[in-house]
Amino acid sequence: MSAFNVAKFGGTSVANFEAMSRCAEIIENNPQTRLVVSSACSGVTNILVELANGVKDDVRRAELIKQLKHIHYNIMGQLSDASAIEARVDALIDKVATLSEAACIDATAKLTDHLVACGERMSTHILSRLMQERGINAVRFDIREVLKTDSDFGKAEPNLEATRAAAEHKLVPLCNEHVVVTQGFIGSDDEGDTTTLGRGGSDYSAALIAEAVQASGLEIWTDVPGIYTTDPRIAPNARPIPEISFSEASEMANFGAKILHPSTLLPALRHQIPVFVGSSKAPREGGTWVKQSVQSAPLFRALALRNNQTMVTLRNPKMFQAYGFLADVFTVLAKHKISVDLVTTSEVSVSLTLDQTDTAGGAPQLPQATLEELQQLCTVEVKQGLSLIALIGNNMSETKGSAAEVFDTLDDFNIRMICYGASPHNLCFLLDEQEAKQAVKALHEELFE
Ligand code: ADP
Ligand code: ASP
Ligand code: MG
Repeated sequence: MSAFNVAKFGGTSVANFEAMSRCAEIIENNPQTRLVVSSACSGVTNILVELANGVKDDVRRAELIKQLKHIHYNIMGQLSDASAIEARVDALIDKVATLSEAACIDATAKLTDHLVACGERMSTHILSRLMQERGINAVRFDIREVLKTDSDFGKAEPNLEATRAAAEHKLVPLCNEHVVVTQGFIGSDDEGDTTTLGRGGSDYSAALIAEAVQASGLEIWTDVPGIYTTDPRIAPNARPIPEISFSEASEMANFGAKILHPSTLLPALRHQIPVFVGSSKAPREGGTWVKQSVQSAPLFRALALRNNQTMVTLRNPKMFQAYGFLADVFTVLAKHKISVDLVTTSEVSVSLTLDQTDTAGGAPQLPQATLEELQQLCTVEVKQGLSLIALIGNNMSETKGSAAEVFDTLDDFNIRMICYGASPHNLCFLLDEQEAKQAVKALHEELFE
């Protein structure tokens, strides 16, 4: 195991000069931190995704590029001497402009990844320079040389063995000499093409890199001092959780708690790397430790909310007391590589929700070819504009009255689908997006306050 930590800083933590300076201070205060993984500056990936989707209006496109320049030049303007990086950032802005034009003609997932990767590539030029100016022995490293992935653009999966080998060869020796500043979110495939791990993927990158260098700790620095009982933006009385188990935190991330990308904890769990989540704005306020085993296992731990859900309901009256229907449905879905999230069935119907993980965003769609093939088996109804709420806890399905407490609170809400019992750690349900925040608030008040 390496004796150093990996620290990841999210978009708001590197939003401007002051925020980046706070990151530098956190690094200075812990000599054990040798590897820094940075997101793009706050707002930048949203702009890049919009451009990657093809902005045909020239005026709008120019406006977005102007905003990008403004964000980055603003920080560079506050450096003592930005000359060493100016040309590099300029070249990346030019690249964005060229690729944005190409996206108007053909917006492919591959092009999107090349384009959105420019955000992290720019922020790391600036952050490493800022750290150097403060006297830190920082060096910028292009993580695409190490983080090797498949070619599933927009939601690439890492090649763990190739990543580990490259890290050992290229990254570990560098960390022994320097504080290495590198990009979250991005990687490269066997062809050398740039890939991304999906929105919010910098957390996952940091964990993969920590695994690859066998780091002794992973710090996720964000804009809140830890993992809360629910998103504090939704429920102002939400409170930070001092320590939480890997399995509880993974459930939270899986079910949409934006604080961690869903896959973040897999690498940390594989290598038993303790994870700390804290606020770069208030590093001394403490935060959450995610560990293998923790002292408490409360019945209700946290609430997570995931918007933009698509529910597909498949009905076939002939399914009554017949067999093979579910197998047929899932064969079609597997053939079209449609990843299913939640499932409930009745005698004659099955409802399921579709996974959403890729960088381009938007509600997950059932592709036309899949729809047509399913329609040969049954009627298909697709409903969008839904939200998934997950209540995460311990032994819920074995504790009398826990479901009643939840559903009594939700009496006034229209619940579309419920999944309960398959896991003792969660209870999930779908409802209309407009009602979701209100439902989270009501549940939080009842169960946590
Ligand atoms: P970063 O840019 O640092 O990755 P994100 O915006 O992706 O930050 O994630 C941090 C945000 O996650 C918080 O500002 C908060 O609104 C949201 N969030 C959602 N669920 C939780 C939770 N359970 N605890 C804390 N924050 C949460
Ligand atoms: N910059 C990327 C995003 O905004 C990745 C990340 O910040 O985690 O989704
Ligand atoms: Mg994030």
